[in-house]
Order: sequence, then C-alpha cells, then structure tokens
Amino acid sequence: MKVLVVNAGSSSVKFTLFEMADQSVLCKGLVERIGLKSPRLVYQRAGEEQHDEKLTIVNHNGAMQAICHKLIDAEQGVLKSLTEIDAIGHRVVHGGEQFSAAVVIDSAVKDGIRKCSALAPLHNPPNLDGIEACEDFFPGVPNVAVFDTAFHQSMEPEGYLYALPRELYKKLGIRKYGFHGTSHKYVYYAGCAFLGLNPETAKVITCHLGNGGSITAIRGGKVLDTSMGMTPLMGLVMGTRCGTIDPGVVLYLIKNGYTADEVDVILNKKSGMQGVSGISSDMRDIEAARNSGNTDAQEAYDLFIHRLLNYIGGYYLLLGGADAIFFTGGIGENSPAVRESVIRQMSVYGCELDNEANKARGKQIVLSRPGSKLQVAIVPTNEELMIAREAIGLVK
Ligand code: AMP
Repeated sequence: MKVLVVNAGSSSVKFTLFEMADQSVLCKGLVERIGLKSPRLVYQRAGEEQHDEKLTIVNHNGAMQAICHKLIDAEQGVLKSLTEIDAIGHRVVHGGEQFSAAVVIDSAVKDGIRKCSALAPLHNPPNLDGIEACEDFFPGVPNVAVFDTAFHQSMEPEGYLYALPRELYKKLGIRKYGFHGTSHKYVYYAGCAFLGLNPETAKVITCHLGNGGSITAIRGGKVLDTSMGMTPLMGLVMGTRCGTIDPGVVLYLIKNGYTADEVDVILNKKSGMQGVSGISSDMRDIEAARNSGNTDAQEAYDLFIHRLLNYIGGYYLLLGGADAIFFTGGIGENSPAVRESVIRQMSVYGCELDNEANKARGKQIVLSRPGSKLQVAIVPTNEELMIAREAIGLVK
C-alpha cells in the first residue's frame, strides 16, 4: 500500500510518498515560494539526485497539480497512475480539544479544523488548502488528518490548565495544547522498541530540540506534561522564540507603547538564541562563536542548557523517576556538546555519559554507559513515517 504524506504550510507544500509494505520512501520533495516570486519544485526519487524546477503556480492547488504531474512523470515519476495511492496523510498543526487522534477527513472534520484556526491562524488555513487540493486531485482517495496537538490530549487537567480564571478556559479555550506531538509519539515508541522498554508502562522524557523545541514527560504512552503551551512560544529557549518568560513582561512592553503585533514579532522572531546571542538562531553558529570566546554566545548556550535542565529535573520528579531520556530534532540528533552539557548533570540519577557513543550524529544509539539506571539515547525523529502509519492504520 502506498501513502502520500503532505505538509502544507503558508508558502510551501512538502510531500513524501511511502511504500508501506517495507515503510520505504519512494520519492519526496517540496514546492516552495507559493504565492511569491519564482516558486519552484524540488523533487527526489529514492537513491537518486535531487531535481529543481521553476513553476508558474499561484496557490496550493497549483502546487499539488505540479506534484501530481511529477509523481506520474514518464521519466522521473514513481507511479503509473495516481490511483495507486491508498491514502493521504496530512500534517495539521492544531486539533484543539476536538481531535485527540488522527481522523479520516470529511466535511465535519474540515469544519473542526477551520474552528481550530482561531488557535493556529498561520498554520491551519494552509493545512486546509492542502487537504482541499488533494480532494481535487485524488478523487476517492481517503485523506487523513494527523494533528500536532493530538498526542498531548492525553494530559490530565493538572498538566494542561493554566492558573487563570476558569471561564477563560471554558469560553476561549485558553489552556496548554502542546505541539510536536507526532514527533514525541514516534520517538517514544521507537525509543522504547530500541531499548526493549514496555511502552505500556515506560517512563520517558522525550527532548525534541530543533529550531523549535519542546520536551515531554510520557508514562505508558500518556503525556503527563509538555513544555509548549497554548502556542509554541512557551517552554524551552528556541532558535528565535523566547520560551517561557514572566507574562508580566508582555504587559510591561504593551504599557510602554509596544503594539501587540510588535510584541508578537519580538517574542517569536527576535528572541531565543538569536536574541540573546545577537549572532544567529542556529546552534552550529552559537557553538562556533562560544568556542572562539564570544561571551554573548556562551550566555545564550548556557541559558539554553539551564532551561532544558529545569524541565528535565521537573519531569523526572513528575514521572516518579524515568527509565529513559531520548534526544531528537536537529540539535538533539547532531550536537554532542549540548548532549554532553545535559547528560553530565545526570550522574545524580545514576547515569554516566558514554563519550565515544556521544560522537554520533543523526543515528539511533545509546549514549549512557552500560549499567546506567537511567538510559539516554538518540532516537532520530520521523514525523512523515508516523503520519503515514497513522493514515494507513485508519484506512486499512
Ligand atoms: P530542526 O528544526 O529539527 O530541523 O533543527 C534545526 C536546527 O538543528 C538548526 O537550527 C541547528 O541549530 C541544529 N543543528 C543541525 N545540525 C547541527 C549540528 N551539527 N550541531 C549543532 N546543531 C545542529
């Protein structure tokens, strides 16, 4: 069976086509700069070189049409006909409280996704554009929505409530939703299988550290807590997002003449590693700068680690001790320095770092020394495969 995974953003559509018999990728690519100058298609068949192509499209429908042409192209395609596709899995950012699992899309589901746009105005509308384009180009093929928030719906009220007047939660849905749920779920189950832990009972902390970052405490497949909130601004220090700050800062800025839009840009685009270092949002640049003695970069790095340790310590206690901690995302999978800074603090939990293993980048490997009570591992995330599995699970 073949599943197409679609991730439609405001100006791009990413896609991956899977053969589910062996869970292999047949081809992948993206259309970018949709609605902007010089849109283009990037396309790669498994094991082959990447091709670039200029397009003259203006919207998501045009992007999907270009992708369809490529999939069945006589020379570069991987299908004889689009009818070979059994299901399409869509990444949808916000499912609110309505969606606690993936669902086959019908008009009621689309209405639900539209309603959740209030909570994710930049993401849910283009996700819907992608869904509707697929309905046009793949008639009769089931579309499945896989929500970034769904896994975190397993949190109990003490995990998701804010200590605000209850009516704000009831009337406006102000609560913690959490994001990166598909990644945390994938990494939890893949990591448990890797270490031989029973996912029905395991106690795990998953650290998704990328340009955006979040951390989740999971027990027996249920989320106890996660660091992102009603929006992805909360929690860890990120590339350009501030993570958790005193909400009084927002009031102070507004009372001092900043508009809500200006505060939005400061907190989302000008803060985090970029804001504190003044150099870059990219951990590679921060590491290079701190290694050459830049103190602002060093402070940004220290703040990143300090915040991460705060969460890990809290989650460890919340879980009543953890069996494992998994690192994933661009930083988690590729930065030995960050992992070492975190793991060397874990000797209090009976965990020692295997320095040789920690040299690894982007591969599944145990980082703790044999005999560690708490095991630590790199578990590369694969959100696309998780979406494909959820989609095929619903349409089989
Ligand atoms: P992601 O959002 O998961 O794609 O992660 C992107 C981030 O991973 C980049 O912004 C970098 O900060 C980080 N990253 C990628 N490779 C490395 C590396 N070798 N060392 C440190 N950070 C890295």
